[in-house]
Amino acid sequence: MSSFIDTTCLVCGTNEYTKVKFKQNFLPENLNANIFSARRTTEHYHYQMLECQKCSSVFSSPILPQEQIAVLYKESKQNYDNELTCIAESYIQYVYQNATLFRQKDRALEIGCASGFFLRELQKAGFKEVFGVEPSEDAVAKSGDLKDYIFTGFFENAGYARDSFDMISCFQTLDHLINPLEVLKKIFELLKPGGIAYFIVHNEKGLQAKIFGEKSPIYDVEHIYLFNKSTLSRISQKAGFEVVKVFDIKNTYPLSYWLRMAPIPMKSTVTGIVKGMGLLNKRIGIYPGNIGIFIRKPAIHSS
Ligand SMILES: [Zn+2]
Repeated sequence: MSSFIDTTCLVCGTNEYTKVKFKQNFLPENLNANIFSARRTTEHYHYQMLECQKCSSVFSSPILPQEQIAVLYKESKQNYDNELTCIAESYIQYVYQNATLFRQKDRALEIGCASGFFLRELQKAGFKEVFGVEPSEDAVAKSGDLKDYIFTGFFENAGYARDSFDMISCFQTLDHLINPLEVLKKIFELLKPGGIAYFIVHNEKGLQAKIFGEKSPIYDVEHIYLFNKSTLSRISQKAGFEVVKVFDIKNTYPLSYWLRMAPIPMKSTVTGIVKGMGLLNKRIGIYPGNIGIFIRKPAIHSS
């Protein structure tokens, strides 16, 4: 049987101000690698969720130990191949819109790069060398010619040189980490002075969380720390970054995707009706409650 471990509010460094938001809703034996596969139809299992009354952080505690979570991710499958183009387009648009932030485009790294679909967008956007880190062996197996540039495993073990990247991106991954602050500090170290980190995470104060409450897919056993604009900015600053911009992400996906992810009743009936109308592939842009952030390693810093 698993022994669970406690986590602590990242912003405050203590659980002195926390209150239970939701109770854990599963038995440990219910967990398997399938539940840890990105963008699967969610079972809505979540740990006990705590909310810090002081800083508004929401996080899972207690959780499975890191080693057990690592095994579940390693065995997970990439099962969202159909939406890859849409996801990549949703994320790269902000790089183009904020082109002035990216004066140097020699080396970019993506943490949690899956099969490298966003790395290809970065290449198109002019980044000369792209690298990725991804724990899922199934996802890396689908990366084609990028395979040699992807480290299969966890970021902590990847061993990149300090001050060596112009840009580091990490999408829908920060909230899966047991130690996001440590990872942010590591990213800080790897960026060149003046380099930019680009994250996208679920917004715990977003529309989806407001509408669906505990049924929202953001309350999920995969998510350890959930962020809002304030807490995401504050932990970035704790790691030494300057916050350049925090913004809402617009995702444009086929209707079939939105239906699959939405926690709605009679889903198969609704999906059937939409299919009958020939609208399953229709692309719809929604602000589902994701935050993007651009943060910068100061150009001159004392280390
Ligand atoms: Zn706090």
